[in-house]
Amino acid sequence: MNHTSYIEISKSAYKKNIQFLRSEVGENTIISAVVKGNAYGHGIENIVPIAEGGGIRHFSAFSADEALRVYNASKKKSEIMVMGMLQNADLEELINKGISFFVFEFDRLEEAVSTAKRLQVKAKIHVEVETGFHRTGFEWEDREKLFKVLHANQEHLTLSGLCTHYAGAESVSNYVRVRGQIKKYLAYKDWLIEKGLTFEKFHTACSAATFSYPETIMDMVRIGIASYGFWPTQETYMYKFKTLPENNKNPLRRLINWKSSVMSLKEVKMGEFIGYGSSYMAPRDMRIALIPIGYSHGFSRLLSNQGKVLISGKIVSVVGTVTMNSIAVDITDLNGVKKGDEVVLIGKQRKNEITVASFGESIQQVNYELLTRLPLDIPRKVIA
Ligand SMILES: *Cc1c(COP(=O)(O)O)cnc(C)c1O
Repeated sequence: MNHTSYIEISKSAYKKNIQFLRSEVGENTIISAVVKGNAYGHGIENIVPIAEGGGIRHFSAFSADEALRVYNASKKKSEIMVMGMLQNADLEELINKGISFFVFEFDRLEEAVSTAKRLQVKAKIHVEVETGFHRTGFEWEDREKLFKVLHANQEHLTLSGLCTHYAGAESVSNYVRVRGQIKKYLAYKDWLIEKGLTFEKFHTACSAATFSYPETIMDMVRIGIASYGFWPTQETYMYKFKTLPENNKNPLRRLINWKSSVMSLKEVKMGEFIGYGSSYMAPRDMRIALIPIGYSHGFSRLLSNQGKVLISGKIVSVVGTVTMNSIAVDITDLNGVKKGDEVVLIGKQRKNEITVASFGESIQQVNYELLTRLPLDIPRKVIA
């Protein structure tokens, strides 16, 4: 049985992105491939082998369930790190499998210690400190207590990392805030080192920080969006642009193409309404093509009368509302469109291209959101 659309994932694009990132961070910094959100919609099981083929040996997941999927997909004994959610009940399995995790509050820290004690296996932890993101992290005021717990339980803990996350390194409007965070992180780091603790890795940078605040690169960077071929924002790209080599001004390549096909064709007379309601009245005699893609497939309803797709190499417009399972597009000016013809929702067709950024321009849906809203059940095909 065929799905109504499919997503291609390009291996070579991923490898190029990693090569570029490697040139940015240097040889001595670990690149942790962030695979939260089902690898930004690409599929954890697709991305892990591609990434390992490109030399990646460290993965960052949001939650325990994702980390276990990475564990099962990994063929190279890569390191795996959970940056966010886990239940106390997950700790035993994570610790036994050597999966590391962020610790940002005392009860998780205490649970980690007691589980490690019981298992007689050290828990690998990344101590997350609050520097100004105000989501998760140990407060500066709690440093004495934090130090005491870490120090007292050294035989049960591997201090794999000391980390933080920046609150918007992708926009210069947050410049002061991010600078403040860097300062606070370094102060926390110095204080803990002064007290005699050592950490295997200091890591703070996401994609945007890596590009815009190179001093945040440290021992490891946690790279999500850039590895999938996107600049975190247009602003980050503009900032970076002048330093990119002349022969490689566009070093990040999108991995995905999203394709469907024409389901049906119809003639509509001038003055008739197309689809539900009255949002689109045919301004002339028209021909439309129905495409079996709707908001249930991740094609936002906000793209009603807004979205664009490619058919026969030409850009055509969505007319009427996006429904749960289909859209109508205006093909009046195209010749010879047939049922079954390829429709490109994201990607190239002949000379034209629909980018992920174009969704951001029309409906403010940032690339992160568009990607992660592509449903799990749309088949992904890995291509060269
Ligand atoms: C998502 C995330 C990243 C990666 O962010 P990108 O902008 O996709 O590179 C890094 N660190 C943490 C803690 C994250 O949650």
